[in-house]
Amino acid sequence: MLRPIVISGPSGTGKSTLLKMLFAEFPDSFGFSVSSTTRKPRPGEVDGKDYNFTTVEEFKKMIDQNKFIEWAQFSGSYYGTTVASVKNVLDSGKLCLLDIDMQGVKSVKKTDLNARFLFIAPPSLDILKDRLSGRGTESTESMNKRLEAAVAEMEYAETGAHDSIIVNDNLDKAYAELKKFIFEQ
Ligand code: ADP
Ligand code: 5GP
Repeated sequence: MLRPIVISGPSGTGKSTLLKMLFAEFPDSFGFSVSSTTRKPRPGEVDGKDYNFTTVEEFKKMIDQNKFIEWAQFSGSYYGTTVASVKNVLDSGKLCLLDIDMQGVKSVKKTDLNARFLFIAPPSLDILKDRLSGRGTESTESMNKRLEAAVAEMEYAETGAHDSIIVNDNLDKAYAELKKFIFEQ
């Protein structure tokens, strides 16, 4: 079976951008594990595709019903991977890709998913800050929480927890490296 790939890295480092490039080039090869979240959709985000957007009440109910493989609180919202979201992809026979934070990485490592772990790093924290503010989606408070989390994510990556680290400096170069990692299996 194709091993799932967990992509993580600081918010604003370019994970969604790289994944969108991959899905555009290979529309039939991959399945994205659609996470549930209580944060509000950003302009352009599609419910059921980018995330399953839900309420805190519903999310907590799902926790009680053991629907999640893993869940975490990030920047004031809940995020979680359901058993169903991963199962849907695995049943389709496609390679399963997950985009989750450091807490999720630690949780998935304890499961029997047998995933490979890829970390997408920004060239620097200053550049990360520019990207986050350039995206124009975050309040100052949310930006600060994300930058704080970014420091912890980077420190975790330095412990060697991931199978590979790609620095997303030049987008085309990072994308080429992403494809190399994914097709290596
Ligand atoms: P993430 O999914 O990791 O939170 P995004 O994919 O939303 O990050 O990227 C954050 C912002 O940075 C977006 O505005 C995106 O267009 C931009 N971006 C992504 N990769 C690069 C890159 N290599 N160089 C410059 N800007 C980038
Ligand atoms: P964003 O709000 O920018 O889409 O995502 C914020 C953070 O939450 C990112 O680090 C992203 O990888 C992470 N994330 C998204 N879905 C999940 C999930 O299901 N579980 C966990 N643990 N983190 C997630």
